[in-house]
Amino acid sequence: MHKECKQDFNHHFIRLNQEIQNQGLWKSEVLLQGPQDPVIRVGDQEWINFCANNYLGLSNHPEIISAAKKGLEDYGFGMSSVRFICGTQDQHKKLEQELAAFVGTEDAILYSSCFDANGGLFETLLTEEDAVVSDALNHASIIDGIRLSKARRFRYENRNMADLEAKLQEARNQESRFILIATDGVFSMDGTIAPLPEILDLAHRYGAQVMVDDSHAVGFYGPHGSGTPSAYGLHGKIDLITGTLGKALGGASGGYIAGPSEVIAYLRQRSRPYLFSNSLAPSITQASLMALTIIRNEPQRLETLCNSTAYMRKNLSSLGYHIPDSDHPIIPIMIGDAKKAVAISQFLAENRILAVAFSYPVVPQGKARIRLQVSAAHKTEHLERTLEIFKKAQAV
Ligand SMILES: *Cc1c(COP(=O)(O)O)cnc(C)c1O
Repeated sequence: MHKECKQDFNHHFIRLNQEIQNQGLWKSEVLLQGPQDPVIRVGDQEWINFCANNYLGLSNHPEIISAAKKGLEDYGFGMSSVRFICGTQDQHKKLEQELAAFVGTEDAILYSSCFDANGGLFETLLTEEDAVVSDALNHASIIDGIRLSKARRFRYENRNMADLEAKLQEARNQESRFILIATDGVFSMDGTIAPLPEILDLAHRYGAQVMVDDSHAVGFYGPHGSGTPSAYGLHGKIDLITGTLGKALGGASGGYIAGPSEVIAYLRQRSRPYLFSNSLAPSITQASLMALTIIRNEPQRLETLCNSTAYMRKNLSSLGYHIPDSDHPIIPIMIGDAKKAVAISQFLAENRILAVAFSYPVVPQGKARIRLQVSAAHKTEHLERTLEIFKKAQAV
């Protein structure tokens, strides 16, 4: 590159960054001087953390850390290989089998992240003869995954079953071979749950398959924490389920697709993020297995999370805050005006509570909100102090 050309290139990004800043949309990162926990160290202060996906408090749990250490000791630091060359350990197979049993499918396949799992699903399983019908509020990784595939694309309004049916009809009119409905189990900006019984019913009527990304549910939502399908009594009834190990299940990284054994077998042969990206590190494999064990052995964690969620939802509503109806630990406190949401979030920060404000373009115009995420590891004193500050925040 010529010198001027290089300068032009860099200047281009100075201008773009400036634009983002001018629009008030610049995302700065809070610097944590310690582990992820309900109480985090920010500078020389301790803050109560309400915006991690640490739903079960396992991100810094002693047994998870011991399991990760044992993984290091028994199986080494890294695999230096993709799965099909020499990167598969017995523990990878064990984790895949346990995940499949947990979410109610025949088999599962691990990826480096759920972003990769969604990136490797649609393109591999669908061709231009097929159609995918996707909820408008689906996670970015589903949107990108669908973009990579050649299937015809249809988008239905968030959780709107009449619109889903209209799009299924369109897909059928175009004589699609296979139709795959794709939805998040839980919508992360709203804390609302996909209407899976109605979706399955439509799928049966239109001969479609159903894919659910249960990243914000696996491990803690529904009976035994096995996800949104279980919450509706539909354990084992969903064709394909994707999820992350980077939220409730220990919070490090990793993801999976769970489904029928023949589909999973085909993904191992053809799914690009699986074939061309490194195998999951042994410490993560071991820690994830331990996360599943803890969930099995300590149901009180799920109960605490459920009770704390209900407590926060009820008391924030009593204070007059508007919260969409749900029972999920994601609690969006609807503020409306973006500047007001930021001001409240700043007031919370001044009081050493971390709860981020979300505004356009992450959520629709005029629907700015502060999002709380409750953890089983939050103590009563954390919840009460937070409610107290929210009470004071009404004057902001
Ligand atoms: C967090 C999340 C992902 C991404 O998971 P990673 O493992 O962090 O890549 C994908 N889908 C949904 C619905 C998520 O909430």
